[in-house]
Amino acid sequence: MKEIYSIAVDGPSGAGKSSLARRCASAFGFIYVDTGAIYRCVGLAAYRKGIDRKDAGAVSAMLPELEIKIAYDDKGEQRMYLNGEDVSREIREPHISLCASDVSAIPQVRAFLLEMQRKMAEENSVIMDGRDIGTVVLPNAQLKIFLTASPEARAERRMLELKEKGVEQSFEEVLEEINQRDRKDSCRETAPLREAEDAIHVDTSKISFEESFEVLCGIIEQKLHIKRLEKRK
Ligand code: C5P
Repeated sequence: MKEIYSIAVDGPSGAGKSSLARRCASAFGFIYVDTGAIYRCVGLAAYRKGIDRKDAGAVSAMLPELEIKIAYDDKGEQRMYLNGEDVSREIREPHISLCASDVSAIPQVRAFLLEMQRKMAEENSVIMDGRDIGTVVLPNAQLKIFLTASPEARAERRMLELKEKGVEQSFEEVLEEINQRDRKDSCRETAPLREAEDAIHVDTSKISFEESFEVLCGIIEQKLHIKRLEKRK
């Protein structure tokens, strides 16, 4: 039987988790799961309904009405569906980032999404990125990586990423949003952003995307004793 691997990648927003995890997943033939996108769907649903996103009762009451699906397009890109509608673009809007952060602090929301995330990892070899993958969702992952960078380096990258998507925001605005989300994600009671004890810490502040990619691939090859697809022939 083919072995199933799970790699957990956690860290603060803007550390390059999603781009790096996506690229590594494709290099090793794994499925990439961006769990932030799932929280963003719940944030979007609350926003659209005009619900106070910090009101645990109101947000929980909305959960049974939500059908959230992850699909992959022919380029292998993750698409998110909320009650049948493709919301992949809308969930990336900056105001939805804060909605996602608010709803993700509600224990019922985390419990609602837990099984969905675990199921993906039971059925496929995955690189899953988020905030509590190594500590809560996949505590038995064969490899855990904590990916971080300074707030300034993260703001710089986030700004460029948003620009590519046609969203214009100043460095100061993006930095403020990153600091705000860091505070919220680290200080909340439920599943705060925390480095798993057995995680490998990687700081990408001073290294380029390509260098970070090589560092991660090296760790995966060494720890899991597997090779990248192009090296397998
Ligand atoms: O990773 P991304 O920035 O898309 O995540 C959006 C928000 O969802 C984060 O600020 C965080 O509060 C929340 N999140 C979480 N747990 C995860 C992934 C994301 O709480 N596993």
